[in-house]
Amino acid sequence: MAIKVIITDGDPMLRQKSKDIVEITDRTVKLLDNMVETMRDAEGVGLAAIQISHPLRLAVIDIGEGLIELINPELVECTGEQTGLEGCLSVPGLYGKVTRSDRIMVKTLNRAGEEVHIDAENFLARAIQHEMDHMEGKLFTDIAEETYDAAMIEEEVEKERAEETANKEKAINEH
Ligand code: ZN
Repeated sequence: MAIKVIITDGDPMLRQKSKDIVEITDRTVKLLDNMVETMRDAEGVGLAAIQISHPLRLAVIDIGEGLIELINPELVECTGEQTGLEGCLSVPGLYGKVTRSDRIMVKTLNRAGEEVHIDAENFLARAIQHEMDHMEGKLFTDIAEETYDAAMIEEEVEKERAEETANKEKAINEH
């Protein structure tokens, strides 16, 4: 396995449409392994093959609930709506407020070439839709209602944490 270079916004390849995998070969499996290692090294929750310069319909996702691999995925069903913050390893330093479907059903192949269906909701549904957008040459910044500087978000989270700690201390002192 190897850690690959993640290309970033401004690289024209990110705007290309990825191609279907015609046959799952040893090379496909090796590419998937490299994608997993690259995603973990970058501490991301998802990575599409195009982000490491392979315009193929492959993605790996791990939101902390186990690894999911997508090979030629297709959206079968989408319902509901969710709005939340999203980031991308190819758009460093930026978060965006993005509205997506809340529940989805996806038909995909696994690395054994078997067709599997994945039911996903909330953050996992968001992650899958984000990776499938990469396969169409789209980035979250194309559909974000607002974008925020990552440093600003981190500052806000810090402030909230500090306030929470202060409140907890206050509660302890009051007892
Ligand atoms: Zn991304």
